[in-house]
Amino acid sequence: MTNKINITLSATKKEKPNADQLEFGRTFTDHMFIMDYSAAKGWYDPRIVPYEPISLSPSTMVFHYGQTVFEGLKAYRSSEDKVLLFRPDKNMHRLNLSNDRLCIPQIDEEFVIEALKELVSIDKEWIPTAEGTSLYIRPFIIPTEYYLGVAPSKYYRFMIILSPVGSYYKEGIHPVKIFVENQYVRAVDGGTGKAKTGGNYASSLKAQEEAEKRGYSQVLWLDGVEKKYIEEVGSMNIFFKINGEVITPSLNGSILEGVTRNSILHLLKHWNVPVSERKLSMEDVYNAYKEGLLEEAFGTGTAAVISPIGELFYNEENIVLNNGETGELTKKLYDTLTGIQTGNHEDVFNWVVEVN
Ligand SMILES: *Cc1c(COP(=O)(O)O)cnc(C)c1O
Repeated sequence: MTNKINITLSATKKEKPNADQLEFGRTFTDHMFIMDYSAAKGWYDPRIVPYEPISLSPSTMVFHYGQTVFEGLKAYRSSEDKVLLFRPDKNMHRLNLSNDRLCIPQIDEEFVIEALKELVSIDKEWIPTAEGTSLYIRPFIIPTEYYLGVAPSKYYRFMIILSPVGSYYKEGIHPVKIFVENQYVRAVDGGTGKAKTGGNYASSLKAQEEAEKRGYSQVLWLDGVEKKYIEEVGSMNIFFKINGEVITPSLNGSILEGVTRNSILHLLKHWNVPVSERKLSMEDVYNAYKEGLLEEAFGTGTAAVISPIGELFYNEENIVLNNGETGELTKKLYDTLTGIQTGNHEDVFNWVVEVN
């Protein structure tokens, strides 16, 4: 394919929302990136066009069997007015891992990062500046063949859309209550748990809905075979601090490998905090709690960055962590990581990529 991106600018500019009215994923910018795929042409016709609805036949495969993948990352505006991306190479590499699992053709990671930068640059006025706000970037791929047979599509569309998002924590970072899920499971080894694909989210809704009805904000997922071992929390990876050691479940085939998870592991090692990736059962966590050794717990993901856990409901019992307050290490990780992402903290690992 030719890597020339065709640009059609929007004739009018939409009104931008006020920073205090921003919700997650409700408002979109003036432009989007599109490219298409056919076996004969490969990925072709990369273009930036005005953001608008797309038209597809009802028989388009995307409406039927869920052969989709997506990514999520953010652009930040630094205090010096620079536009910064956080480890976009990790996201585009993961998109290809998801593509492989869903039988979707590979993308050119470097080219797509260039396309993303170009799009963010065109819509950079949309990046909110208030503390905690950012521009959420959603790359995704859908199958576009008109066909009801169950088979990998012969045609695809890759798109990137942008959404200004408000601070995840309106009143500052605060701990959430978690329901340890003992009925539904998110994923199993050999399934699609380690790919970022829509079906994993569709199958998680029921548990999430029931947990919310009981007053919990997310579920903690246990392994799909024995329902003993900890996997993730909501759509985030999870960490525990037990007796001075930070533990996160090892990547076992059903856990999604988060960019935030990976970054936290690097930071902790850099600080010489004892850290391990291993199998961890809910019973281990409960025993640590009973012995007074369970110090902190938090979820990690692009949307919230770090989400402290204040309470776990497990076996009809409430496990309260750190008096329901944000732990010291949790707070330090949140401040450091968001500091690096927004250009306010030294970027020791060269994670930040500037958009010109
Ligand atoms: C996206 C995602 C995460 C977090 O990944 P980040 O790259 O840190 O945003 C964790 N778990 C699941 C299931 C996810 O889909």
